[in-house]
Amino acid sequence: MSDKPKEPTLLTPGPLTTSASVKSAMLRDWGSRDAAFTSMDASIRQRLLAIADAEQSHVCVPLQGSGTFAVEAALGTLVPPDGKVLVLVNGAYGTRMVKICAAIGRAHAVYETEEDEPHDPAELGRRLAGDPAITHVAAIHCETTSGILNPIEAIAECTSEAGRALIIDAMSAFGALPLDLRALPADAVVASANKCLEGAPGVGFAIVRRAAIEGAAGNAPSLSLDLHDQWSAMERTGQWRFTPPTHLLAALDQALKEHAAEGGAPGRLARYRDNCRILVDGLRGLGLETLLPDHLQAPIIVTVHNPGDPAFDFRRFYDAVATRGFLIYPGKLTKAPSFRVGCIGRLGAPEMRGALKAIEAALDELGVARRGRKTG
Ligand SMILES: *Cc1c(COP(=O)(O)O)cnc(C)c1O
Repeated sequence: MSDKPKEPTLLTPGPLTTSASVKSAMLRDWGSRDAAFTSMDASIRQRLLAIADAEQSHVCVPLQGSGTFAVEAALGTLVPPDGKVLVLVNGAYGTRMVKICAAIGRAHAVYETEEDEPHDPAELGRRLAGDPAITHVAAIHCETTSGILNPIEAIAECTSEAGRALIIDAMSAFGALPLDLRALPADAVVASANKCLEGAPGVGFAIVRRAAIEGAAGNAPSLSLDLHDQWSAMERTGQWRFTPPTHLLAALDQALKEHAAEGGAPGRLARYRDNCRILVDGLRGLGLETLLPDHLQAPIIVTVHNPGDPAFDFRRFYDAVATRGFLIYPGKLTKAPSFRVGCIGRLGAPEMRGALKAIEAALDELGVARRGRKTG
């Protein structure tokens, strides 16, 4: 018998629960200048492009760091110093892009909606028409703050009709929600290894329209976050400029094999949809109230209103669920007190049912009355 405690199941949208085979892919050392590594790296970049149907039009530029590093690199590299970004905000990740623009000195405007309200493409069109200085629109595909699905196809169409470039933070959507760059006009899509691709955290990437990256030399206010420099060095040498996260890339290589074996993005989306359905129905069955109506809910992460019963305390609730083997997320909404439960990662129906049992037992342990579970 092993004395190793059982790993918790992560109901968090990245880091998330990965497969045993993805974890064991990290148990080997790689020479970063060796052909075995560089060919694995090239194949990863190619497969990431294929997931977005972007092999003909775009290039894939990977970057060390969490997803935010790649978002900051994309904004700093693609928006020239005299450009201006219209940032679409309905949660913390949109707000983070506003902070990035301020930190790197890019002029910006904000179109903000409520955290449970998607952006209106017609309003976007009016704002673009009203401010000719705007060169780029930055939008979030699935805003992980709430789990809301923004209308990315309509946003892309509207941005393109207005003759502006689009940068999409698709961090929590890439690899599951449909994204076809042959049909959807976008200069860049940014994501990371550790969300719907089910890899380990620490590496992100941008999928950038070839003409956009070619024209971006000298824009970036940073060396390590210069995607043009990273891309041109990779094109010239086939190698990363600086020490690559070799083990994380080996994990991503394995994760991409498992993604393909599951049927690519459509297969993964189907599993996440099932997970989300079980979770939302189960939570409602426990008397809890979800933030979003079903038509706005992406099958990524579910935001739940804290029960109105004063017996509810998030810290104690978290611990009581964790003791039963499941880690959930605190809420990130600015207005309503809430918590979040993810449905992505190497999880299926048994894990979602297990999580619901743990949540039910935790509510009972805290003495939260069933009829007091709706927000008061
Ligand atoms: C996870 C995530 C990011 C990146 O967050 P990191 O903590 O830097 O990995 C950015 N945008 C969205 C929408 C995300 O879900």
